[in-house]
Amino acid sequence: MLDNIYIEDLKIFARHGYFDFEKENGQFFYVSAKLYLDFQKAGRTDNLDLTVDYSKACEYITKFMTDNIYDTIEAVSEKLAESLLNKYPSVMEVEVRISKPEAPVDATFKNISVTSRRKRHTAYIALGSNEGDSLKIIEDALKDIDQDSSCKLIKQSTIMRSTPYGGVEQNIFYNGAIVLETYLEPYNLLEFLQTIEAKYKRKRDIHWGPRTLDLDIIFYDNEIIDDEKLTVPHPDMAKRDFVLEPLRELAGYYRHPILRKTVNELADAVGEKHIIRK
Ligand code: AMP
Repeated sequence: MLDNIYIEDLKIFARHGYFDFEKENGQFFYVSAKLYLDFQKAGRTDNLDLTVDYSKACEYITKFMTDNIYDTIEAVSEKLAESLLNKYPSVMEVEVRISKPEAPVDATFKNISVTSRRKRHTAYIALGSNEGDSLKIIEDALKDIDQDSSCKLIKQSTIMRSTPYGGVEQNIFYNGAIVLETYLEPYNLLEFLQTIEAKYKRKRDIHWGPRTLDLDIIFYDNEIIDDEKLTVPHPDMAKRDFVLEPLRELAGYYRHPILRKTVNELADAVGEKHIIRK
């Protein structure tokens, strides 16, 4: 992103702070926000409607700072960054700095501040369930995901039925895929999805066994991650038609960053079929 709008040290009286007296008395905060967007067209046409109106953005930030009360400036920064991305769809990335020069610290300093930088990421998530009311569980879980301030459900595939994988005797599966826009970094996204799985009481006792809800990160932007906690792209996706068939509805031309094949090519090449086609 080449362009940005920079609001620097907007002075706002607010009540954020860990101590009760900070909430009661309030103090001055200075908020900076750098909004990254493409305003080439607005610049070429001199049209305010094609960019972010900085006077409205200042009002929005001021209202955010005074309507909410948080213990930490980290929370202020995180929530404000998310809120700005939710408010302005043309902003692709945001950097927010919250300064608290009157922070109650027994020391002499010029300023204390925190800065957070958040951007829109695209994640493809595979869904699976074969215990309980699977269709309802999937529907409810997707609502939960979409309602979180850090995630937006962009598109959902058809839900398909498939025979179990891995040789454990169990019910048929319901599988699907979604595209998410998220501000969460990969490990935070994994943790968030695990809290959603836990809400629907997934059992983890049998490997490849029954599950009320399984949410796997298939792709995250074009990133390649491989460690003990997280592997992206998901390591088994290329063998699983019940992942690739729903996924091709959303991202047929997406190219696997390691295998260098598109989702369509990978789906066509799967030997062992599990999707039930009737
Ligand atoms: P599963 O039984 O497939 O839900 O596996 C869950 C475990 O796989 C968790 O402990 C995750 O840390 C790990 N894992 C590794 N890569 C991924 C991924 N891409 N998506 C979801 N879980 C993953």
